[in-house]
Amino acid sequence: MRLKRLTFKGGVHPPERKELSEEQAIEALPLPSYVVIPLQQHLGAPAEPIVAVGDMVRTGDKICEAKGFVSVPSHASISGKVKAIEKRPHPVAGEALAIVIESDGKDEMSPNIGPVANYLALDVEEMKKKIQQAGLAGMGGAAFPTHVKLSPPANKPIDTFILNGAECEPYLTADHRLMLEHPNEILEGVRIIMKILGCKNGYIAIEKNKPDAIAVFQKLVNEAGDNLRVVALNVKYPQGAEKQLIKAITNRKVPAGGLPMDVGCLVHNVGTAKAVYEAVALNKPLYERVVTVSGRGIRQPKNLRVRIGTPFQNLIDFCGGLSDDTVKIINGGPMMGIAQYTLEVPVTKGTSGILALTSSETRIAEPQPCIRCGRCVEVCPMNLLPNTLARLVEYKRFDEARELGVLDCIECGSCAFVCPSKIRHVHHIKFGKLEVTKMMKAKAA
Ligand code: SF4
Ligand code: SF4
Repeated sequence: MRLKRLTFKGGVHPPERKELSEEQAIEALPLPSYVVIPLQQHLGAPAEPIVAVGDMVRTGDKICEAKGFVSVPSHASISGKVKAIEKRPHPVAGEALAIVIESDGKDEMSPNIGPVANYLALDVEEMKKKIQQAGLAGMGGAAFPTHVKLSPPANKPIDTFILNGAECEPYLTADHRLMLEHPNEILEGVRIIMKILGCKNGYIAIEKNKPDAIAVFQKLVNEAGDNLRVVALNVKYPQGAEKQLIKAITNRKVPAGGLPMDVGCLVHNVGTAKAVYEAVALNKPLYERVVTVSGRGIRQPKNLRVRIGTPFQNLIDFCGGLSDDTVKIINGGPMMGIAQYTLEVPVTKGTSGILALTSSETRIAEPQPCIRCGRCVEVCPMNLLPNTLARLVEYKRFDEARELGVLDCIECGSCAFVCPSKIRHVHHIKFGKLEVTKMMKAKAA
């Protein structure tokens, strides 16, 4: 009975293209000669540098400090010398202040990293402090500080935790490989999260196109006798979006403008769960992550374990370089990712994939007038009117766009994907969200 509703209304079925890299076991990328660690790798206030040019640092040393509660520190991802603190290309922000470290080739580790005895017995506040100090921010792409998500207000108790193993973006297979190769660490992360939240219901949600990962977790959960349920989700984009996942599994609807905590739920991605385990059980800061490098423009697609701050160029070179017909490089997946103008940009905590796409995989075309076919409305998982919203923003009618729910758009790109007129809804809507937010702040001031 429950299986029938393990999906949501709307959504699309883009070509999955996961076969390019899903069989590729995670490989460690050789250490880069330098890394570029942006101060802004998370939602919230950028961190502040606590090192100076010329300082020597070890892998895992804190190099910038959180500024306020909704912020996290960052750490050196290689050992060596701080060469510069300056503006550098950034995969999301265009350009941002960053700490540049030149490798000494030793990869000398911070002595603070090491196993923590009996970590499951730690006090909840101590666990959260370790997670904050390790610089954790959501690794599924949104990069929201993890300790903030784990600190809901007292009037919003969480009774349901969902581990997000959907990985619904085409091409990306980093989470799939993590689930196959590190399931025990991920499960320990889930146990820690559930202890912090004090919640009883836990779900491990995986799309049905990853039957091997579903089998691995089902076996481990059965053996451990945990109070966890493994659920197989229908394959549909954006099944991994928080609100869609919650609806599919619990049938609870996050209200417009609300958060998962409003319906007693919390969702974390599998990479974040593993990082939670490493922060609490090993005192290991978030200085590396797994990145899928794929697309037909990549000669040998791979899943790579990479130090944060490594330039995209290093990953692409390690994968055999770009084919001549590459027309677009993307940070993230093809639906929600951001096109890049230089390969100097570094891997950040939120970089789940780097895609090199050829002309056969992209739709570069000039937008045409809307033919009112209604397809964008049919597929919108948030029940919005993408065509109307895009037009209102274009004509700067931000008040009306707000009334029609522009802020509820999850920027999934489903509308643009189906649009026969190639209208760039998300481009307009993102701009509309920025303007409406500014307008609301100005009114509140
Ligand atoms: S309007 Fe927003 S939420 Fe709806 S389909 Fe388009 S991008 Fe997705
Ligand atoms: S899908 Fe494109 S053409 Fe069709 S109604 Fe939406 S905006 Fe117009």
